[in-house]
Amino acid sequence: MIRDARSAPSPDGLDLAYRINVMPSSVYTVQYAVQHVPDSYAARVQNFAVLYPLTKYCRSPWEIEQSTFQLIEDWRRRLAVLVHRGWQPSAGQHGGLNGRNCCPTFAYMLPRTRPCNLRSICPFCYAREAGKVWEMAQYAFHGEMPGPVQWYRPGCPDPLPPWPERPPPVCRFQLVERYIKFMYPYVAPGCDPNDQQAQDDVLFSLLDQLADSRGKAVGAHKAYGAYQATTIEAGRRGWRIRTRQLLMYSSAKDLPKSVLEPAANRTIRVHPKPTRRELCDAVTRVCRYPRLLMVGNPLQTARLLEARRLHRVRLVATYGAFRGLANA
Ligand SMILES: [Zn+2]
Repeated sequence: MIRDARSAPSPDGLDLAYRINVMPSSVYTVQYAVQHVPDSYAARVQNFAVLYPLTKYCRSPWEIEQSTFQLIEDWRRRLAVLVHRGWQPSAGQHGGLNGRNCCPTFAYMLPRTRPCNLRSICPFCYAREAGKVWEMAQYAFHGEMPGPVQWYRPGCPDPLPPWPERPPPVCRFQLVERYIKFMYPYVAPGCDPNDQQAQDDVLFSLLDQLADSRGKAVGAHKAYGAYQATTIEAGRRGWRIRTRQLLMYSSAKDLPKSVLEPAANRTIRVHPKPTRRELCDAVTRVCRYPRLLMVGNPLQTARLLEARRLHRVRLVATYGAFRGLANA
């Protein structure tokens, strides 16, 4: 059962978000029941990009249910730790309130609680975004609207079929996947590594740089459509930055040289006319959940989330033909 926490008194004067996310009270914990497990290309993207990296590879709908329950527990635990370390998840009107009981993805469950919209870390909201990226890419490349969904009853132990079958689409575009990775130290060289102010200065300057470069990187490549997402995780020696791009070009034209320019920290893949499966795999790679947010250093992760909340930086962008579905 959900009880409206806002009506509860706060005798100890603790912050509301802290009480809801951290206090070990079952009052604020929704117990979910599985209704069915969906299977579609969008569901596969969500599973491969988020669920499996955070739990384990699932062979059947039953295993997906079990992994979803495990992820609900892991996420609640992680949220409590991060709030304890200083993060105040108040993004959006109800973000902090709903974090613990964010509507699960991967398996359809009741009751239907509200999504928390903490998209930079909540695995369920992250997966919902991945599903949307798949739908945008599918419409941009193949002109297809979201496809049929197969539903499995709770506890179904049958192995999932290879892939939902549909006739192959027509594609007149080429797809380029680009991955750029780099590290950024927690403090500038020569500074005291434990100096809190020095660490904050570095983090804010990093977020400024990433926000500035968000549009420029794709604009320089003159793509017909593009999607870009940058993730930041707390690594052992510094911030781990990953920028991932999907770029779309006409098959009739040569690719710009700048797109294919190699570098040590860059991985580039080209698909001349991507099939549905190739597109699906590419979207999965681009939307892969940054796992260290869930298992990495909790103090640095809480600082990162708090800096992002104060800074209001957006690290995801869509361009050109990738916006076609929104206007369809
Ligand atoms: Zn959420």
